[in-house]
Amino acid sequence: GKTALIIGSGIAGIAASIRLAVKGYQVEVFEANSFPGGKLSEIRKGKYRYDAGPSLFTLPEQVEELFHLAGKKAKDHFDYQKLDVTCHYFWEDGKRIQAWADINRFAEEVETKLGEPAGNIRKALKDSSFIYKHLAPLFMHKSLHQLSTWTGTDALKSYGKMGKLGIFSTMNQANEKLFENPKLVQLFNRYATYNGSDPYQTPATLNIIPHLEFNIGAYFPKKGMHDITLSLFQLSKDLGVAYHFNSKVEEVIVENGKAVGVMVSGKKYQADLVVNNMDMVNAYKTILKKQKQPKLLLNQPKSSSALIFYWGIKKEFKELGLHNILFSEDYKAEFEYIFQKGSIYHDPTVYINITSVCKPDDAPEGCMNWFTMINVPNNQGQEWDKLIAEARENMIAKINRVLKTNLESLIEVEEILDPRLIEIKTSSAQGALYGNSSNNKFAAFLRHANYSSSIKNLYFCGGSVHPGGGIPLSLLSAKIMSDFIPKLED
Ligand code: FAD
Repeated sequence: GKTALIIGSGIAGIAASIRLAVKGYQVEVFEANSFPGGKLSEIRKGKYRYDAGPSLFTLPEQVEELFHLAGKKAKDHFDYQKLDVTCHYFWEDGKRIQAWADINRFAEEVETKLGEPAGNIRKALKDSSFIYKHLAPLFMHKSLHQLSTWTGTDALKSYGKMGKLGIFSTMNQANEKLFENPKLVQLFNRYATYNGSDPYQTPATLNIIPHLEFNIGAYFPKKGMHDITLSLFQLSKDLGVAYHFNSKVEEVIVENGKAVGVMVSGKKYQADLVVNNMDMVNAYKTILKKQKQPKLLLNQPKSSSALIFYWGIKKEFKELGLHNILFSEDYKAEFEYIFQKGSIYHDPTVYINITSVCKPDDAPEGCMNWFTMINVPNNQGQEWDKLIAEARENMIAKINRVLKTNLESLIEVEEILDPRLIEIKTSSAQGALYGNSSNNKFAAFLRHANYSSSIKNLYFCGGSVHPGGGIPLSLLSAKIMSDFIPKLED
């Protein structure tokens, strides 16, 4: 039979292994870490468990589809629940709202508590759904690098609607037009951070994101986010995929313009095709360094990174849910710090993810596992130790003000993740969470294709190539990639 080698067991690498195994390939995966999942892994500390990276789960059908492809019932292997409240929002002036998944209930809540006409929420979500309907078929499900994508009926339908699709204004400009209360502008601007972008620069097209969370829904895997990795890892092994851990690929071997295998610890492994799941910028610097460099794509600005404190908290806060946001008083200044100054604003928006709310065994009785995160610039060699110490103080002070508590005395365990560590652990260029940023109108076109145009039998998947970062898009990258590879005859 034919063989395929995959570099990296990020969620896209695992998805790619499943798709190729289903197509009849014998698949081997090489992973530098001692565990699968890349960014989608977990941390255990004392009696606490944390999902290490992603915390928000949308488009679960992208995971289920992989089980179905393999002829299995997804529910038997991977189970999840829909959230009634997608997020709890807090402001310094004491205002608080819950974002109900039920749009009418959310619109009512916003009208009662913030005085924003309910109709404005409904209109915003309708606009978001319009963008999704027109752009998802083009940008999420197909390669942008094939002429047929641009001449198909989906494309033709969209050309006349460029203005309504938000191509000519920024996300913030569009939201300022939609809402009266600056708190709603802030709430809807926050969706830019879902792919590490800046709402004051990114095109309003990214207002596509609220559609995913509200109209389609936000979910939580019953065994935690890490179960996305574990269940798909198990599925791939059931399909015969072989994994090599602690096996960093040193080079993609190219002969006569064709990828023929990889080099690991000085040993050659041969195959009919090679799929790279490693971040593209670092891939071209290392395993593809002898190959022609796509400079324009590699030099695009990267998305933001994160600073996370995994805290074990000896108290239950009843007002907190799975996802919580404590907003900055000056959102514009916060993004200027992240994207222009390369630094951290003194009053950052604090995100607290608490899986023990849905999965009580993640924390001891009466306690909570706080994944406490702020958005920070990607790694450009800043004085991180100093920035992190300041940010920790500012975050705790903010939490104390907003939740009226004394947090320091409640923290019983602590673990930290910062941009430097994200880069070391997953090979992500500059520790960016989502590959290139989407701050520029043309960003969607400036991601690497899912195949190499100069080297035969070399393919790409993962958050740094088309269609982009985040779990759903990374999973789709594996689908788009594998659509180029023919199914083998039995
Ligand atoms: P990665 O997870 O980047 O994994 C790549 C793998 O390749 C790694 O395991 C690495 O060790 C391996 N590798 C690299 N080089 C080599 C080599 N030379 N040889 C062998 N192996 C190699 N997404 C969401 O959808 N929702 C969220 O809420 C969310 N929040 C996030 C929060 C944080 C803190 C982070 C870090 C990310 C978040 N994301 C979120 C983004 C999401 O995690 C990523 O987009 C997605 O997991 C990327 O998957 P990937 O397949 O590209 O690979």
